Amino acid sequence: MRGLLIDIDGVVYQGGALIPGSAETVVWLQREGIPHLFLTNTTSRPRAAIVEKLQALGVDVSAQEILTPVIAANHWIRQRGLDPVALFVAAATATDFAVPGILPVEAEQGAAAVVLGDLGEAWDFRTLNRAFRLLMDNPAAPLIALGMTRYWRADDGLRLDVAPFVAALEQATGRQPMVLGKPSPDFFRQAADVCGLPCEQLVMVGDDIRVDVAGAQAAGIRGIQVRTGKFSPTDLDGRVVPDAVVPRFADLRAWWGGS
Ligand SMILES: [Mg+2]
Repeated sequence: MRGLLIDIDGVVYQGGALIPGSAETVVWLQREGIPHLFLTNTTSRPRAAIVEKLQALGVDVSAQEILTPVIAANHWIRQRGLDPVALFVAAATATDFAVPGILPVEAEQGAAAVVLGDLGEAWDFRTLNRAFRLLMDNPAAPLIALGMTRYWRADDGLRLDVAPFVAALEQATGRQPMVLGKPSPDFFRQAADVCGLPCEQLVMVGDDIRVDVAGAQAAGIRGIQVRTGKFSPTDLDGRVVPDAVVPRFADLRAWWGGS
């Protein structure tokens, strides 16, 4: 094992408080020069806000150590030289896009890729249809989804997230989306690529047995389950078998030394 992928919520912190030993474990990773990335599905906040939150809790990380769906999309788009791309993403994350070119917001042709995120109330027929027209205009343009979350709970009730809109465009165009967000293997493969390591040399640590552990394993990455965050003993009923189970993120150091 040469590198680590680490889930944040439920592994590094929980309910706004640091899980004991997390900060020291990050220092150990940095000091040993072990390639690592913190993997999050967050698309509602820019990467700088995630860094700020971690730093406020005493975890000293840089932006380069964090991979969000938007940052993974940047990496994928730049690697392929796709220019220009059409963005259907919230303003909060549009600022994280650093790609060669972004298509003007009114254009209905000429996109080399179409990126879909959670636009919330900004979705309307015209906007969705514009994404459809761009995909139909260029049959080679990939449809990149910033995750496949179906819905979420807002203060006023449930709200549609990105997946139903991706599904509508997939249905209309027949184009298979490239999904950048856990548990999609596409996202884990991008993480491996950013780390510069093959999947077989990576370990993913997470509290969600389906999203983190099974997702990583589907990409050929070992999955380690922590007993913090959303972990429940019934997770170990055998449907997904983690490569290891450790009490906390901080216990990874001993596992790493013994592996
Ligand atoms: Mg988690």
